[in-house]
Amino acid sequence: TAHQKVALVTGANKGIGRGAAEQLAGLGMTVLIGARDARRGEEAAEALRAAGGDVHAVTLNVTDPATVREAAKQVEERFGHLDVLINNAGITGSGQISPEDAHDQVPSTVDLDMVRAVFETNVFGVITVTNAMLPLLRRSPAPRIVNVSSHAASLSLTSDPDGPMAALLPSAAYSPSKSALNALTVHYANELRKDGILVNAVAPGFVDTDSNNHTGFLTVAQGAAVLVRLATLGADGPTAGFFGEDGPLPW
Ligand code: NDP
Repeated sequence: TAHQKVALVTGANKGIGRGAAEQLAGLGMTVLIGARDARRGEEAAEALRAAGGDVHAVTLNVTDPATVREAAKQVEERFGHLDVLINNAGITGSGQISPEDAHDQVPSTVDLDMVRAVFETNVFGVITVTNAMLPLLRRSPAPRIVNVSSHAASLSLTSDPDGPMAALLPSAAYSPSKSALNALTVHYANELRKDGILVNAVAPGFVDTDSNNHTGFLTVAQGAAVLVRLATLGADGPTAGFFGEDGPLPW
């Protein structure tokens, strides 16, 4: 029998992750909606099934390793393997949305507990999920890992006072967490290169979602496209890269 591709997208009950889940299902993959809230995950899965996709909810809180282990066990029992992992779940932390509350991530006054919480989800959560799912990914003929980063991760772009990111809000938590995610991406890619596992970071652009109070100008479908592109790379595709929809981004 033909190999049925299975994709897991974390934080896929809404926003960009849900958009990516919908597109992957449209390509014929079996898609697992990772959601920390079982009801929200099931509602999203049901909606995508109603649209014709083979979509299932998996309860998974990236900051709770027990739920991640349990999710991996369920994927193993139900499908036996995983082809695509999209580490999409992420939080901005306070003060990363509007200029009115921008002071919350000013480095000199930032609340360290908030920084810790952002790293817990955006960085440590990715390690937890990736390591739990790697045994399943190794059973795929063409495993792909996509880490959802941000233009705000780019040290080149954010350190240029005249560059396109000059207006970026001060960010002692969110932006550094995504820079760390980019670094992790490179190191996973280097470790897993010999196994044919392609690992890349992507920046979806400024997308209209809850995470920015719907101030983003791209649709969820537009933002999700780059996640899907890197999740469906051919064998000759890149690894250890950082991409936006228009191509490679500077680190
Ligand atoms: P949303 O807030 O719309 O969605 C975030 C998703 O992550 C939700 O499903 C949320 O679940 C989930 N999530 C948060 N914490 C956890 C956790 N601990 N365990 C499991 N799931 C969790 O955000 P976006 O769709 O905008 O963001 C998706 C990704 O894209 C993030 O990594 C974000 O940093 C990145 N990004 C977004 C940009 C944008 O312009 N929107 C720009 C650049 C990057 P719940 O519903 O339960 O809260």
